Amino acid sequence: MAKKGRGSNFYVHGLRSGWTEFRYGNGDKQQKRPPKRLFNHNKRKQIVSQLIEVLDDFRQTRFEHEATCRHGLRSALCLEGHSWAAADNEAALLVSEALKSIGAIRPRWEEGQRYYADGTSNCNWCHGPIEAGSGRFCSRECARSMLESMAGRDKRDRDVAWRAAWMLINRTNKPKVTCEACGSMFHPHYASAGRFCSSACYDAVNTIKPRTCTVCGDSFKPKYSNGVCCSRVCAAVAAQRARKARKERLAVETRVCDECGTDFTPQSQNSRYCGDQCSARARSRAYRNRKKALSDSTIVCLPVPDPRPLTPAIFDGMLEAA
Ligand SMILES: [Zn+2]
Ligand SMILES: [Zn+2]
Ligand SMILES: [Zn+2]
Ligand SMILES: [Zn+2]
Repeated sequence: MAKKGRGSNFYVHGLRSGWTEFRYGNGDKQQKRPPKRLFNHNKRKQIVSQLIEVLDDFRQTRFEHEATCRHGLRSALCLEGHSWAAADNEAALLVSEALKSIGAIRPRWEEGQRYYADGTSNCNWCHGPIEAGSGRFCSRECARSMLESMAGRDKRDRDVAWRAAWMLINRTNKPKVTCEACGSMFHPHYASAGRFCSSACYDAVNTIKPRTCTVCGDSFKPKYSNGVCCSRVCAAVAAQRARKARKERLAVETRVCDECGTDFTPQSQNSRYCGDQCSARARSRAYRNRKKALSDSTIVCLPVPDPRPLTPAIFDGMLEAA
């Protein structure tokens, strides 16, 4: 609470006098108690039963006589000498109790809005028919009108209609692009990369189709795009077969040792030397060479050349860069 009167810092004598607390209370330290009820239990029961008789006599809605009842009760209580706040509180509680007993359910805020009955089958502004799945508005103009009618609204009260209108305008501000799956032209969604017009088109391209297991021949749906086996058992069998085939292929192969130049049968895919002796000799020579090169300041490290084959396109790029 802002300091007032003698509690103000400009009023030196009042600094610690306790006047502010005495005059205005302790501010938020005080607990707020609910207002006291004005009637006891039996009296309340009697009034509620009378209210039910009045409220139940409705034509259109159970809330038809709500305001009249509350106003009548409140004014009667005020005339009896109660404060306006206490009288209004008591009247509101009694009327809500009576409404509850006649089974009145208050409609939600959305149910009172103009777009509620239209849903997504009709335009939420002009009520004209629209295509299914195209949102809530038939055109940009209708969406714009809706946004303008909601212009002064608080941010927290922006509902489905506001979001649909905002999204439609945001979408149609972007140029149309072609769908990669069906080839139709569409305005991309504000949060998408704009490749597919719908989730159905996205699924048509990106869903992994069922295929045949290479081991047992059953049809299955792989989890990943490079899956070839239906189960772990089949995958193990396939791996075993691949190992066996590699071994057989290596058994008939003959390579020339890089170190001593004699022919030998490779033990693995990457074998380059005939035995441990040759590979140790080659390793130590490579180590010596590397050490020598590092100590020589005239040798500079060049970048690794591009492993791609030289195509006309890459050659043109190199020419342009030069
Ligand atoms: Zn419309
Ligand atoms: Zn499409
Ligand atoms: Zn299988
Ligand atoms: Zn050798």
